[in-house]
Amino acid sequence: MLTPASILKDTFGYDNFRPLQREVIENLLAGRDTLGIMPTGGGKSLCYQIPSLLLDGLTLVVSPLIALMKDQVEQMLASGVPAVMLNSSLPSSEYQKNMDLVRDGAVKLLYLAPETLLTPRIFSLLSQTKLALLTIDEAHCISEWGHDFRPEYRQITEVRQRYPKATCLALTATATPRVRSDIKSSLNFAQSNEFVASFNRENLYIEVAPKNDALGQTLRFLEDRKDQSGIIYCFSRRQVDELAGYLEMKGFSVRPYHAGLEDGTRKANQEVFIRDDVQIIVATIAFGMGINKPNVRFVIHFDLPKSIEGYYQEIGRAGRDDLPAHCLLLYNYSDVSKQRYFINQKEGNEKRVASEHLDTLVRYAEDEINCRRKPLLAYFGEIYPTENCGNCDNCTSEARELTDITIPAQKFLSCVKRTGERFGAVHITGVLRGSTRKKILNYGHNKLSTYGIGADLSRKQWKHLARQLTQMGYLAKEGEYQVLHVTQEGMDALRNRTEIMGRIQEDERQSRKVPEKLDYDQALFTILRQKRKELADEAGLPPYVIFSDKTLVEMSAYYPQSLDSVLKMSGVGQAKLSRYGEIFLGEIKAYCEKKGFQEKEKRSYRGRSDANSRFMIVGEIYNAGESIQSLAERYQVKTGTIVNHLMRFAAAGNPLKKGADLQSLTSLSPDEQRRATRAFDELGTEFLKPVFEKLNGEISYDELKIMRLVTLSQQE
Ligand code: ADP
Ligand code: ZN
Repeated sequence: MLTPASILKDTFGYDNFRPLQREVIENLLAGRDTLGIMPTGGGKSLCYQIPSLLLDGLTLVVSPLIALMKDQVEQMLASGVPAVMLNSSLPSSEYQKNMDLVRDGAVKLLYLAPETLLTPRIFSLLSQTKLALLTIDEAHCISEWGHDFRPEYRQITEVRQRYPKATCLALTATATPRVRSDIKSSLNFAQSNEFVASFNRENLYIEVAPKNDALGQTLRFLEDRKDQSGIIYCFSRRQVDELAGYLEMKGFSVRPYHAGLEDGTRKANQEVFIRDDVQIIVATIAFGMGINKPNVRFVIHFDLPKSIEGYYQEIGRAGRDDLPAHCLLLYNYSDVSKQRYFINQKEGNEKRVASEHLDTLVRYAEDEINCRRKPLLAYFGEIYPTENCGNCDNCTSEARELTDITIPAQKFLSCVKRTGERFGAVHITGVLRGSTRKKILNYGHNKLSTYGIGADLSRKQWKHLARQLTQMGYLAKEGEYQVLHVTQEGMDALRNRTEIMGRIQEDERQSRKVPEKLDYDQALFTILRQKRKELADEAGLPPYVIFSDKTLVEMSAYYPQSLDSVLKMSGVGQAKLSRYGEIFLGEIKAYCEKKGFQEKEKRSYRGRSDANSRFMIVGEIYNAGESIQSLAERYQVKTGTIVNHLMRFAAAGNPLKKGADLQSLTSLSPDEQRRATRAFDELGTEFLKPVFEKLNGEISYDELKIMRLVTLSQQE
């Protein structure tokens, strides 16, 4: 029997529903109107694609984005779902052919642009078909309160009245309460249900970096990601052209995209990007609405976005395939001033709103402590409950864990003392770093014993240190000029050489954190990707219509050796299996034979939506008997990284194999191990800090991480 779950696997090749997909689908099948709010990449399309195969009659999808429509139809056909579109981009013969197919009941899914929907031809067509489900994609366009109001969307209401029997589904990624209620009242939703998915996108690594050398920073970022696809957003068209030109000169595969380009060029640039012929697109925010490319591995904001909402939409275009993706915002204050300047030319309400948006964004960007997800999700009315998401700069910064900063702290405090407690942090930093600024020379501060003893830290790092010393009460600030003086506590600390724990900020130039590589066999992935590109070009399709990166990643991690095993890979359904299964299987087998590799069994997990993320794969392989050391070699990462994966695996509720292996990683004495385990038993395994403190800081965080896993593997 056909069920939503069987279609999910057999047609689309996925094991688990994403959050709320099942609920929306079941609600529709029960004949109730539905409003579905999900983030970009959340999987809205399946919410009507699956019902279309279960309902008796036609599913109509109204979507404003013609480019996206074509893409969707191609993807549906590749998965074996009969779908067509009708819009002004079609030659009339094809238009007629598609009309006939609909009339004959030969298709389940029809995609329409809103302006097409309201033509007599379509009305007459629809009067001859049974309309089962009316889907309004990008439904916020219906509301004047949305950011993208389209008057023609208003008239959908009329269609709704003509076909009162059809169930209606409205989908959007924009969720302000006002827009929501507007959508429901416009569509006459009497008895309807609303499903709002979490806007959290776990797989996005979110980073804000101080923008001090934007070009250099961008180059370094791209150099680490030679094979990856990404989008770079700029503020102005001119900036887009300049940056694209510069990157091209540096040998990158890149195209510009903005509204000032000629239509044909713009479309062509988008197309080569979608087809993986070009890797990077440099764009104004105009880019992205109409694309559905799942393997965008990074989004860089070269300039400051205009609002949190826009920013979140833009970074949401990364990692739709659920694989890790990196979002980098380059931030400095001069960008803020630039935007303020533009805002100040506006008037009244518009000015006030824009200025509020900017303030929120600045607060977000300047926050160095809290998880990035908290303010982002709060903006969408969601409370993010986790303390440490483990996937943003603030949560992963090494400096979050305290280190011994006694020596630099002493240097700073004594320099404040020696300059007579009459200066602010900038001056003190100058003295420490041996600056030859006039003010320093005039005061004779170049003759102090503390002059030049702090060249090892950057200005920024010293300022950051000063802030901490102030927060800890060793320093106090006074007056308009923020003059620093050493408190009694600070004096005591200096005298007694008290150990001071704190953070040294990472120096952006020296040690940019390079996010982990994806965990799979890179060589095999490259082979499969080439094969995919060949097939795609032959068929005139974008590569991801054949298989997504995620599918290829799984193939490169599990080495399936039979069609049955290929079918277990995410994104492989029956249609794709029969079309491409043998071809890919052949490549994988040939590769494995040469290397002597064997299949790794893929088991399904307990209904987790992020089932196949890398930590799950690592966890599965570990449980199957591979050692941490050899996992680290296989994926070319540090053992610490594997330990982190296993931690996430365990945290997701998966039992870990009891292992001598884990224990062999620790260099603690049996007694220390026992103390650590006991502390975890008592305080729980969620946070390290309380355990660290309980053990008087005698066991390092790295050791604690290992012991936490040992503890978890012993619990059952
Ligand atoms: P949205 O329209 O909400 O931005 P899409 O419907 O385009 O998102 O889905 C984004 C990607 O996620 C697509 O590549 C889609 O195939 C994939 N996807 C959707 N649902 C699932 C699922 N349950 N499991 C795995 N992948 C999914
Ligand atoms: Zn975080």
